[in-house]
Amino acid sequence: MLNWDEPAHPRLTAGQAPAPAPKPAPQPALGVVAAEPPAEIPEAVLQDAAVTPATVKVRETEGGATGLEALTMGADRITVDDKQMINCRADLNQLVPFKYQWAWQKYLDACANHWMPQEINMSADIALWKSPNGLTEDERLIIKRNLGFFSTADSLVANNLVLAVYRHITNPECRQYLLRQAFEEALHTHAYQYVVESLGLDEAEVFNMYREVPAVHDKAAWSLKYTQSLGDPRFHTGTPENDQRMLRDLVAFYVIFEGIFFYVGFTQILSMGRRNKMTGTAEQFQYILRDESMHMNFGIDVINQIKVENPHLWTEQLQEEAVRMIHEAVELEYRYAVDTMPRGVLGLNAAMFNDYLRYIANRRCIQVGLPQQFRGVSNPFPWMSEMIDLKKEKNFFETRVTEYQTGGTLSWD
Ligand code: FE
Repeated sequence: MLNWDEPAHPRLTAGQAPAPAPKPAPQPALGVVAAEPPAEIPEAVLQDAAVTPATVKVRETEGGATGLEALTMGADRITVDDKQMINCRADLNQLVPFKYQWAWQKYLDACANHWMPQEINMSADIALWKSPNGLTEDERLIIKRNLGFFSTADSLVANNLVLAVYRHITNPECRQYLLRQAFEEALHTHAYQYVVESLGLDEAEVFNMYREVPAVHDKAAWSLKYTQSLGDPRFHTGTPENDQRMLRDLVAFYVIFEGIFFYVGFTQILSMGRRNKMTGTAEQFQYILRDESMHMNFGIDVINQIKVENPHLWTEQLQEEAVRMIHEAVELEYRYAVDTMPRGVLGLNAAMFNDYLRYIANRRCIQVGLPQQFRGVSNPFPWMSEMIDLKKEKNFFETRVTEYQTGGTLSWD
């Protein structure tokens, strides 16, 4: 507990270096705020030997700090060496000193990419959608199916982040990015809702698609099983088995869900925009793709950092499992391509996606240190790379100025 009777810092005079904060006599460390019941933790179950003055005390069975522990007055200050990606027992409420500069940089980059769905002009899309001959039935199917998949997919990712991943990533600069990512997932769901509303689509049909259309359902259902155990309040990292489960969940959501399952839809919608159709919707998806690309790269950096810090987790068995998951994902995503595009349309056909998904899967494998799985595949959509590298000031569809501006100015009156 804080002691409000502590003497104030002595007044400084010019040129005088600040004196170090007076260090009170060590007090008995308080235990973590346990989920339930909040009873005092017997000393016997605490890992006294592992506790340094800069760390918090956590039950042996509970992997890392949460940030909700009681404060210990006079504990040592945190150094970068105290920090680690999982199972860290240093105070998580102190952002600095940074250990993972890349995570902080991604947070800054993500903020610099800020955009809002309602900034994008949807009037051309509305006119085209309502014109009886504006779009073919195949093109309409692509729009509706992708809104159906994505409208719930980003909620699923957000829930995985907030209710499962966040608690177990024990690093403040990564958590800072996760908070930004969670907001971006909300923005994406907002964008899909905004398109549905603008076009006057049946919102119940769109938002229920993941329970009513097999190709949409199967991808969501495949992913959900990888988040459920981590979201269980009784789940804790700290054993090799549970730490591997955490890694597996990160592969499922960052490498596969955001790294493979989004790419048929992104390619289809952006292809439409390139043909000057549904340009507002395509622009929404282009911003979303840019965000998602960063989400995936952040997740891959986290996975690789966990592997560096815990090489015993990345066993041959886990690697084989990750490879198996990637193969399953390619198959599911290909089925989604066929379902959304029963015939060739917009210069695309399902066979091209067969190549593209294998090309992407190979890239994902390389990124997490797995062997490439598919031979002799090339990228049939090289223009997608340009879409991912979208610069904020670039206005690809020339629909509006895309520089983000705040809505108003502060007034102190
Ligand atoms: Fe995402």
